[in-house]
Amino acid sequence: MKIAIDGPAGAGKSTVARELARELGFIYIDTGAMYRALTWKALQEGIDLEDPKALYELAVNTDIHFTFNSTEQKVMCDDVDITFLIRSPEVSSVVSKVASCPDIRRVMVRRQQEMAANISVVMDGRDIGEYVLPDAEYKFFLTANLDERIRRRKKERAEQGFEVDDEAIKNEIIERDRNDTQREVGALKVLNDSIVIDTSNLSVKEVVNRMLSIIREA
Ligand code: C5P
Repeated sequence: MKIAIDGPAGAGKSTVARELARELGFIYIDTGAMYRALTWKALQEGIDLEDPKALYELAVNTDIHFTFNSTEQKVMCDDVDITFLIRSPEVSSVVSKVASCPDIRRVMVRRQQEMAANISVVMDGRDIGEYVLPDAEYKFFLTANLDERIRRRKKERAEQGFEVDDEAIKNEIIERDRNDTQREVGALKVLNDSIVIDTSNLSVKEVVNRMLSIIREA
């Protein structure tokens, strides 16, 4: 079974997706982490983020994979553990620029489809229902109002030990929303078969329970 979860930054996708996967005994795949990993490497190597050819070269020559154990999932880039590094404000502020490059998206979508082949997955991102898993049995679209998404992102940054700059976080979310919804390929959108859940006033548990009841009812 494939479950797609799309939605904007701060809507609670990854927390909910991880929990839903745990409940169902499925593998969770965080596709945003893959775009973040590539962005991290591009910044490390001083690659011009406006140069799609250089980014494409980097993408095809970079190994990005996940390792799993019973308690945690790690993001590996060329065998370096970058789980924590990809959440930095530096990566977050430019990742949507890298993700807007159509050639990069082609590479990533293909890899994500390979990862999901033959296993039951919960996959979250922006284009999962439309491009990565168009045949997913369930396509959830999680959203929340802007203030709530900013509040959650601030909390998350503080918990991760990063500096929290209120204005910068607000601007980053607004800018990412704009880039992610307006790009030419793989733009974030509600689909005809999306099940939309507004999580603004719901706890993680409430969102997961709502999803589980939709899945189990069917
Ligand atoms: O999910 P997360 O917020 O970590 O994703 C980081 C960025 O990666 C998004 O803002 C978006 O630009 C990009 N992304 C994407 N397609 C996906 C997942 C993430 O373009 N499937």
